[in-house]
Amino acid sequence: MITTPFWIDQLEQPAGQALTAPLPERVDVAIVGSGYTGLVAALTLARAGAQVAVLEQQTIGWGASSRNGGMVSPGLKLSARKLFAKFDAPLARELWQASLDAVDLVEDLATAESIDCNWRRDGHVHLASKESHFEAMQDNAVWFRETLGHPLRVVPRGELRSEIGTDQYYGAVVDDYSGGLQPAKFAAGLAQAAQHAGVALVERTEVQSIQRAAFGFHVMTSRGALQAEEVIVATNGYTGPLLPELQRRVIPAGSYIIVTAPLHPDAQRITSPRGRMFYDSKWFLNYFRLTPDGRMLWGGRNSLTPDADLIKSAQALRRQMVHTFPHLVEVPITHSWSGRLGLTFDMLPHIGRIDGVHYALGYNGHGVSIASYLGQEIGLLLSGAKTRSPFLEIPHPTRFFYDGQPWFLPLAARYFQARDLLS
Ligand SMILES: Cc1cc2nc3c(=O)[nH]c(=O)nc-3n(C[C@H](O)[C@H](O)[C@H](O)COP(=O)(O)OP(=O)(O)OC[C@H]3O[C@@H](n4cnc5c(N)ncnc54)[C@H](O)[C@@H]3O)c2cc1C
Repeated sequence: MITTPFWIDQLEQPAGQALTAPLPERVDVAIVGSGYTGLVAALTLARAGAQVAVLEQQTIGWGASSRNGGMVSPGLKLSARKLFAKFDAPLARELWQASLDAVDLVEDLATAESIDCNWRRDGHVHLASKESHFEAMQDNAVWFRETLGHPLRVVPRGELRSEIGTDQYYGAVVDDYSGGLQPAKFAAGLAQAAQHAGVALVERTEVQSIQRAAFGFHVMTSRGALQAEEVIVATNGYTGPLLPELQRRVIPAGSYIIVTAPLHPDAQRITSPRGRMFYDSKWFLNYFRLTPDGRMLWGGRNSLTPDADLIKSAQALRRQMVHTFPHLVEVPITHSWSGRLGLTFDMLPHIGRIDGVHYALGYNGHGVSIASYLGQEIGLLLSGAKTRSPFLEIPHPTRFFYDGQPWFLPLAARYFQARDLLS
């Protein structure tokens, strides 16, 4: 079993190989992290005329942006109903609309930059793991239509086989706004577009400190120093101690994925008749889909720790997959890998500024579209093309007990497991 992401194996040329540039001495904007956030910010700023360097401690796109499930769906991790309970209606509506615009942005970027990343808008299916969850979903579908004008199609249990090849679920809702892509190809395509726009993509260069200086910032890296007028930190689940006040606001958590060998075409049709993206309604949810070449990709997070053993995690994920799809029992697992999510205490993404350094992060496992969007948003803000963003206006909380070391993750995992049993 291979323990690197399947998506990276599929790249004709790993994103970093042809791209890496020497460390420039001076730039207008230095960006730390080369996922969707950093790359779209870089592209946006370079197109506005700025000199930009993206600094990546590993290879370009190495983080969650090349490791995720490739599911692109509207909404933020905090549900739209909770947004309306937490904020006044205009702000809640603006945040919801941003999540729709973010899906459109992915489509627009893939099209405008000719990124061959298997983007398809086939919709997603939210599956009810319990009877009570299906009742809540039906109620939710009415609320979405009446409050947001957003159509969600309810699929009762008896009709589920038209969507999915299992009887394990109690019903579902379908959202046709969503799509799917090959995440590493999307990251590689964004990197190429940024490079063509003049961005210096600097790999294997860890940013070790950022200090204020007369001209802006003195950025110290593992390969020397760089001067930058502005700095953006775009490190999400890989955020380290660069800015301690930022580290206290984002919690790294692990998410795990396995991929099978290609399924027989008949098994593909039975498993996913419409090729949609799937996720269930548990706190410790499973997300799954067919890959563009017809494999089952099955993901989840049994514990929240980012460092679980990849063989054990593959065994646990396989058990869940076979429980849901008994007809996949004989299909071998070819890949098992993990990546880091950036969780926030309010389950919302944020743009902010600490000691003069800008940042955008906190996608809570829902970041393919919204990370791209916040990358664009912070690029537009810094270039002056935009003067406000709702993600800049909402407060970004921490907790007194969190100093950047997430000691409480095992406790939180047990709490969510209990909620899955009880709710
Ligand atoms: C297993 C998994 C499955 C997921 N599935 C989905 C999904 O299906 N749909 C969805 O919407 N979202 C999903 N997500 C979430 C989504 O992938 C992320 O929200 C998104 O990719 C975040 O992008 P980013 O650019 O902010 O961060 P990342 O892509 O994580 O990039 C951050 C980068 O910063 C670099 N870095 C950190 N510190 C430094 C430093 N000091 N110096 C230099 N570089 C540094 C890291 O090496 C890393 O490459 C998933 C995430 C994981 C891990």
